[in-house]
Amino acid sequence: MSTTTKKALQGGEFLIRESSPQDIFIPEEFNEEQRMIAQTAVDFLATEVQPHLDRIDAQEAGLMPQLLDKAGELGLLGLSIPEEYGGFGKDFVTGMLATEVTGAGHSFSVALLAHTGIGTLPTLYYGNAEQRAKYIPKLASGALKACYCLTEPGSGSDANSGKTKAVLSADGKHYILNGQKMWITNGGFADLFTVFAKVADPVTGVLDDDLSAFIVEKEFGGITLNPEEHKMGIKGSSTRQVFFNDCKVPVENLLGGRGNGFKIAVNILNIGRIKLGGGTLGGAKETINRAVQYANERQQFGRPISSFGAIRQKLADMATHAYATESALYRCSQDMENAINELKAGGADHAKALLKGVEQFAAEAAILKVVGSECLDHVVDEAVQIYGGMGYSAESPVERAYRDSRINRIFEGTNEINRMLTVDMLLKRAMKGQLDLLGPAQAVAAELMGIPEFPEPDDSLLADEKRMVANFKKAVLMVAGGAAQKLGLELAKHQETLMHIADMVIDTYTAESALLRTLKLADMKGAAHVPEQIAMCRLHIHDAADRIHKHAKEAVNNFSDGDEQRAMLMGAKRFSKNTDLNTAELRKAVARKMIGEGKYCF
Ligand SMILES: Cc1cc2nc3c(=O)[nH]c(=O)nc-3n(C[C@H](O)[C@H](O)[C@H](O)COP(=O)(O)OP(=O)(O)OC[C@H]3O[C@@H](n4cnc5c(N)ncnc54)[C@H](O)[C@@H]3O)c2cc1C
Repeated sequence: MSTTTKKALQGGEFLIRESSPQDIFIPEEFNEEQRMIAQTAVDFLATEVQPHLDRIDAQEAGLMPQLLDKAGELGLLGLSIPEEYGGFGKDFVTGMLATEVTGAGHSFSVALLAHTGIGTLPTLYYGNAEQRAKYIPKLASGALKACYCLTEPGSGSDANSGKTKAVLSADGKHYILNGQKMWITNGGFADLFTVFAKVADPVTGVLDDDLSAFIVEKEFGGITLNPEEHKMGIKGSSTRQVFFNDCKVPVENLLGGRGNGFKIAVNILNIGRIKLGGGTLGGAKETINRAVQYANERQQFGRPISSFGAIRQKLADMATHAYATESALYRCSQDMENAINELKAGGADHAKALLKGVEQFAAEAAILKVVGSECLDHVVDEAVQIYGGMGYSAESPVERAYRDSRINRIFEGTNEINRMLTVDMLLKRAMKGQLDLLGPAQAVAAELMGIPEFPEPDDSLLADEKRMVANFKKAVLMVAGGAAQKLGLELAKHQETLMHIADMVIDTYTAESALLRTLKLADMKGAAHVPEQIAMCRLHIHDAADRIHKHAKEAVNNFSDGDEQRAMLMGAKRFSKNTDLNTAELRKAVARKMIGEGKYCF
């Protein structure tokens, strides 16, 4: 268990506060117990899942529920569930590590995450004592399998616009559910459905503005399923349309109070998003391992293809992407954990503390959803390329990985929605007075008008990168501050600009996370012992600087003109100033290590 006791970093504060390496948790600090849990999950995948991927993808009858049962027997379904409900009560970081490791299980990972995440968490965190006591132990063991029914044919990203209706029965004992849900993961075998519906006035039939949530047992009746969807990937994951036809739900199964469903959906998705970041990281590492092994084995022109610079470059970039993603993932997980612990120390119960702690970092959770899913997409694409023709064959493991990856940019909120949410949530925290963006943004605007200061000579490790990350924050504050000032509330309608700002925020977060992790590692082990991590950190920040420059420039050109535009364009250049790196040498160093060890080894 991680033991950081320092005052918790507030959500979004990474943009305005200097963090020191000691402030963050890094994966190299996992304790013995956490490593053992991870190994249990690795062994489970190796014996129960990986050898049976074809059977899983063929949706062999009963196989997926059996695998979930076995995972339940091993404790993998109840890791983060409090002990009083039959779980193991493990902390957030440990749960994240298990999510990461099991993320390498293709369709099984999707079923597992849907069950333990969006399937179980609404009842765990919003259920009353009776609801929790009745359902959570069975969800923790796998005796009940769960799914989450939010999306409808006409209501996807705009989730609160659903039409599924709940009408109170004349005797006041039941809600009668009618409606259609779509794309429901685990729908084919789930016993328990968290269903989002709008309560209708029994006289006028007018629907509430906001959704309510219901715990619906399949046993209640009135539930029918369409056949399995034919999907591009995750073919072994059950995905169904679910129809509710006069489904009678006892009133005591209303979850979290009438009209609170949208809040529940959103807060559960905050957890789901960072978990998806973890799962996709696990998938990415597994795919990198396969790519390195293949590149070492495959001979062309009398040499292993891993000896070619073009292939080495790909391997190094894949690893660098995963390293930066991992750095941000565990930094954020521990920040959430710190916030949760602080809330608990202040008297909040576990459920409230967890929801509030995670909500505070909702922007970072959205960042990790985007970063993890795009890291995996990058990795599987390059893995197919490294496999060449074999990568295009259904007999190769990377072909499945390539198809399975794509869904991650779509569910748990599309990456466009998550990008917009990232900026929106930061601005909302600022407007509520929880995050002082204005002061630092004004300071950057003033700095822009002044004469640039020449930095003091600094020969400490990664000194250039420290300066660059500090400047990235200024670039974000300059562009976001300028756009907010110029466009006011209209900014929400300028999605092209919002996308640029979101990408700058995302790059800043991962760049700083990789930097702090590397500095902490160098401190722990000595810089001479972590040259590849130093190389990846430099590569990531170098690439981030160029991307940030492009996004800053385009955003500024979108909303400003005249002197203001000229000043901000100069600022964009100044705050994304890059170094002249020999990236080939750095990539060679990273790839050499992986090629030698035959895997992602950082
Ligand atoms: C395999 C699979 C499993 C799933 N599992 C579940 C599940 O278990 N439970 C569940 O409830 N749902 C589930 N979903 C649904 C999933 O969450 C939705 O598909 C997703 O939220 C997107 O909704 P949509 O498909 O209606 O796309 P749309 O909302 O129609 O979006 C289409 C495109 O428009 C963009 N867009 C939409 N609105 C905006 C906007 N305001 N501004 C800018 N761009 C916008 C999107 O980013 C996207 O690119 C699953 C989906 C799939 C494919």
